[in-house]
Amino acid sequence: MADRREMWKELGMDVDTHDGLCAALPVAFGDVYLSQKNRPEGMAFWDFVVSDIHGIRPAELLEAQKEGRKVFGTFCVFVPDEIVVAANGIVTGLCGGSQFWVPDGEKVLPKSTCPLVKASVGARLGRTCPFFRIADMYVGETTCDGKKKAYEILGEDVPMYIMDLPQMKRECDMLKWKDEIVAFAKKVEEFTGNTITPEKLDEAIRLINNKRKALARVFEARKNPDNIPISGTDALLVTQIAFFDDPARCAEMCNKLADELEERNRQGVSVFEKGTKRIMITGTPMAIPNWKLHHIVETSGAAVVCEEMCTGTRYFENLVEEGLGTLDEQYMALSKRYMKNNCACFTPNPGRVEDILRLAKEYHVDGVIDVNLKFCCLYDTEGYSVERALKEAGIPVLGIETDYDDGDSEQLRTRIGAFVEMLG
Ligand code: SF4
Ligand code: SF4
Repeated sequence: MADRREMWKELGMDVDTHDGLCAALPVAFGDVYLSQKNRPEGMAFWDFVVSDIHGIRPAELLEAQKEGRKVFGTFCVFVPDEIVVAANGIVTGLCGGSQFWVPDGEKVLPKSTCPLVKASVGARLGRTCPFFRIADMYVGETTCDGKKKAYEILGEDVPMYIMDLPQMKRECDMLKWKDEIVAFAKKVEEFTGNTITPEKLDEAIRLINNKRKALARVFEARKNPDNIPISGTDALLVTQIAFFDDPARCAEMCNKLADELEERNRQGVSVFEKGTKRIMITGTPMAIPNWKLHHIVETSGAAVVCEEMCTGTRYFENLVEEGLGTLDEQYMALSKRYMKNNCACFTPNPGRVEDILRLAKEYHVDGVIDVNLKFCCLYDTEGYSVERALKEAGIPVLGIETDYDDGDSEQLRTRIGAFVEMLG
């Protein structure tokens, strides 16, 4: 660890405070992850990544910067990675998922801001996350009010570029988003000094599509109605790390894991006993290391088999058309794919309810837990339509609001335990 401390110091981090996080994470990971039984062997890769989560990837990013590559930090699945990759840049996720960062965020943000935003700002201002220190540019987007205003603070001492996301899905909005992608591409070209050509963009589109396909294979194996080859807690970790990892390596490791899960399905090797109730979690994203709800569900007699969230299906569903010959066609293809994402920031947003009903069938779920991060007005309000549609379809649903703090864990355990019992 000593060499990492040197790296963190050079990054200007508050190393002493950061030690608190370094001490807490292995304990939390041991409790939540290593205590699970019969995990797929392939999870060893993700265990290894978490064991040095602020060391391995940051060191790789620093090496890439020495070679002249730029690192772009993003906060939302709407920012098209393909553009950055086509200009030889690297994308890293920056969303904060730990209570550890929340108090520093609350020094400048209203307490009534969602924990994801508070943690992200806290990680930056408290100087306790290397990814925030390394990123050469932050890329925000106009999705929710909390993030929009937080970007003004985050952008005070790091170049910040904001993409203006339309709030509706009309034809004119598709064209508007395409224009935003074109403008972003120009900015990325200027910032990296590299030109985006149709060939480079097509290569980048294929690379990111391959990552999506590999993640989709992992999720496909979770659809088996007779077997649960991987816990939801493990699957969540795979998606969370995908936001940080090199896309080609992510695809390779996910494909290896999917091979193992498919074999487990053939052999009937399950993580849970036969008859365990299958739960889908819908709602706000769960940035690493937010494992709270999955852990509670999976230690309350049920299994999570799908996540309808940005750290789940919204991250990998839908591919960008490949093999297009001009940049204009490629930018439009990117716009079309990204605008298929049914985030609650759109109005109206019937596609999300349709997705949830479709996924409930595909993953053979017995019940749905619709989770909202406290103070996320968008997903909280949309919970009304989501829960009504599920009830009308005869699918049991439990609405939950929580944050990163463990204070409500026992209360959640009681409610979730009662919900699971009711399913039985
Ligand atoms: S929930 Fe919406 S705003 Fe948040 S990451 Fe997903 S798409 Fe972006
Ligand atoms: S969870 Fe809601 S409030 Fe928080 S960043 Fe995402 S969209 Fe914004």
